Amino acid sequence: MTDISFSPAEVQLPSGHFLGGRLVTGAEDIAVISPGNGEVIAGLPEAGENLVDEAVRLAAKVQQESGWSTCAPRDRARVLRRWADLVDQHRVGLARLETICSTRPIAETLAWDIPFLAEGIRFFAEYCDKTGGEVAATSSDLLGMTIHEPYGVTGAIAPWNFPLVMASWKVVPALAAGNGSVLKPSEMTPFSVVRLAELACEAGLPAGLFNVVQGTGPVTGEALCRHPLIGKLSFTGSTRTGIAVMKAAAESGPKPVTLELGGKSPQLVFGDIPSVEDVADRIFRAFTGNAGQVCVTGSRLIVHRSVAGQLTEALIRRCARPRAMAPWSGKAAWSPIISATQADRILKIVSDSQAAGAESLANCARMDNGNGGVFLSPGILSVSDTDCPAWQEEIFGPVLSVRVFDEEDEAFTLAQHPVYGLAAGVHTSNMGRVMRAIRTLKAGTVWVNRYGRSSDFVIPTGGYGGSGIGKDLGRQAFEANLRLKSVLMAAG
Ligand code: NAD
Repeated sequence: MTDISFSPAEVQLPSGHFLGGRLVTGAEDIAVISPGNGEVIAGLPEAGENLVDEAVRLAAKVQQESGWSTCAPRDRARVLRRWADLVDQHRVGLARLETICSTRPIAETLAWDIPFLAEGIRFFAEYCDKTGGEVAATSSDLLGMTIHEPYGVTGAIAPWNFPLVMASWKVVPALAAGNGSVLKPSEMTPFSVVRLAELACEAGLPAGLFNVVQGTGPVTGEALCRHPLIGKLSFTGSTRTGIAVMKAAAESGPKPVTLELGGKSPQLVFGDIPSVEDVADRIFRAFTGNAGQVCVTGSRLIVHRSVAGQLTEALIRRCARPRAMAPWSGKAAWSPIISATQADRILKIVSDSQAAGAESLANCARMDNGNGGVFLSPGILSVSDTDCPAWQEEIFGPVLSVRVFDEEDEAFTLAQHPVYGLAAGVHTSNMGRVMRAIRTLKAGTVWVNRYGRSSDFVIPTGGYGGSGIGKDLGRQAFEANLRLKSVLMAAG
């Protein structure tokens, strides 16, 4: 078998903005630290208001003048499909850039992130000529219709947890709909999207239509949100930042926003599950995938008393399995935590919860990978009070909180969170209960007898309440990048 390991020293980092089809470097004010070894791997320039302005104005000019929005939609689709093919061809380079400063082990970026990215581009390419407006029912001396038009330039702000995939969910539907786009990735994971933008130009995307500006949220992100030529914003990140983005969009527009925010998703396990071991595998994956740094992490287990002992025992056994290894080792299968600060925050929520009465069934603690990486072992807390911090707060780490229930209604009540409503999982073999759960749970997605997305891009994703507004993926994500114009024509 080929060894997929690599050394960070072998990887050339495109440390700059991407504007007009080329890398733009500058004074490197931001230190990018790899969570795999805790070392500074590069410096990053920060785009202030002037550079953001340049990037947005350039995208607007190219969107107007290049014919991208006025060409036959199939011509746009062809460029996007070529882009997806280039992503496949350059999968090793992209996977290394993704792994080097994120939490994604190389085996996973190669097997999942990059193929999923390429297929996502193809999915949105297919929409280019598959939607249109409607003809209205008017009197026959009139012709009334609606037509879809792009906004012009969209702003995209992405988080660090799946840098390429999250960014592509915002930028690709915007481009497919005929817009230009300016992306600000997380300052912690800035490199792979620059390579992605280079490949877009190689595929035939007009230079300057898709630009990347680097920097922190309060400087670069804020300037992008407030730019007057940004027609629509798409943001993925924490609920707190989402509120700031919406405020900036309101004050500088108003402009529409899509917000994919945080979660505290429940998994309900009933006494009639056919196999405790199978469900334990699902629950374990759902709270430890990417070391819990996934928006839809299933971080609250609500389990029926009849299977609670067996299930928690099976989960505790699984908590002993992960091994800490640098993400660039081909054998790595457990993700680091994005930063030492974030690891401290996770451990503080755990210790505060214990002080508030939660019992630790498996200890979330620092793991040593021998080279300075930031790793935490999976932890399980038995919680008896819904005010417990581990039950309330989005931990964004590998920690599961457990509550036991006796009656179905009690389980549904425990599942509700006062703020979040991103996803929920239901594990049962009772169809009636499944139907009641689907209708009762207040979440943007309900998974039944599974947990997590499939590779069906057609199923939209997005939250209720504090978990967001609007959808990524699906037809809805494409249409969110278009505005509707009404036309009424008279014969004379
Ligand atoms: P974050 O909110 O700290 O940052 C997200 C992005 O916003 C970054 O690029 C950051 O630089 C930028 N930003 C920060 N302040 C800003 C401001 N004032 N104006 C504009 N931009 C600003 O989130 P994070 O720590 O990068 O990501 C983790 C969070 O993202 C978690 O809460 C997670 O649940 C959420 N998330 C949600 C989804 C979803 O689909 N719902 C997917 C992935 C992550």
